[in-house]
Amino acid sequence: MAPEMKVHVLESGTMEADLTWLLLAPGRVIKPRVEKDAPRAWGKVPTHAVLIDHPEGRILWDTGVPRDWQTRWEPTGFDQFFPVLDATEGDSGYLDASLRQMELTPDDIDILVLSHLHFDHAANAKMFDNGKTKIMTSQAELDGVASIAGYSQGAHIPDDFKGLDMAGIKGDDEIVPGVSVIQTPGHTWGTMSLKVDLPNEGPKIFTSDAVYLEDSYGPPAIGAAIVWNNLAWLDSVEKLRKIQQETGAEMIFGHDEEQAKTLKFAPDGFYS
Ligand SMILES: [Zn+2]
Repeated sequence: MAPEMKVHVLESGTMEADLTWLLLAPGRVIKPRVEKDAPRAWGKVPTHAVLIDHPEGRILWDTGVPRDWQTRWEPTGFDQFFPVLDATEGDSGYLDASLRQMELTPDDIDILVLSHLHFDHAANAKMFDNGKTKIMTSQAELDGVASIAGYSQGAHIPDDFKGLDMAGIKGDDEIVPGVSVIQTPGHTWGTMSLKVDLPNEGPKIFTSDAVYLEDSYGPPAIGAAIVWNNLAWLDSVEKLRKIQQETGAEMIFGHDEEQAKTLKFAPDGFYS
C-alpha cells in the first residue's frame, strides 16, 4: 500500500516556440509544397514542476524556466526560439511564485530531483543551494555535462547548475516509498521520468522531456528536433509504455499545452 501523499503540479513558466522543435509530425507542422509559404507553426510550450508532500519530506521535480531568461538565454539564441510568455498578474507563473502560493520557500524542499539539466528544467536549481535541499539528477546526465566547454552546448547551459553539489542516480530508483525515477535516456544522456504511486488515484508518470507531447507518445512514437540519441529515445518511450501497460499509470507529458489545460494545478488542485 502506497503511503499517503499529495502531489501538486506547479506552474514554472510557459514558453512559445515553433512546434517543429517538439514534434516531427506530418500534418501537424511539416507542410507539403502547396503550403510552403504558410506561416510556421508556433504554439505554447508550458513547463511544470511537481511538488510531492510525502511523510518522509517534500520532494520537488524540476524547476522550469528562469525569470532572467532574456539575459541568460541571449548568448545561446534560445531567447529568440523559446521566448517565455509575459508573466501574468503579480508576476506569477514562475517557480518561486508557485512555491510562495503554497506558502513555501526553497528552504522547505528536502529533495530536488532534476529530470535532466536543460535550460527549461534546471534553470532555477541554484535557488536550492541552501545547505538543506538535497539535489539529485541522473549520473549519466552529470557525466554528460562534464564535457561541455563554453557557455552552452545544445540546450544545456552549465551556469544553470555549475558548482551545485548534485548526487547522481544510477538506474531506476525509489527516492522514498511510492516515488521512483525511471531512467529514460535519449532526449539527453540521462533524462529521467518520475513515477508516483498515489494511494487514492493510482500511479502517475511525469515524463519530462522523455515524451514532450501526447502526440509524441503515439503509438507510434514520433520524434523531435532536440534529441541526443534517437534510438535510445525510442527505447525509453517503449520502456515507459510497458510500465504504463503493466500498472495502468496516467501519463503526464513534459510540454503538452492541451494536456496542461486539463491538469489540476497548485495551489488549489492536487492529486492524492
Ligand atoms: Zn529537455
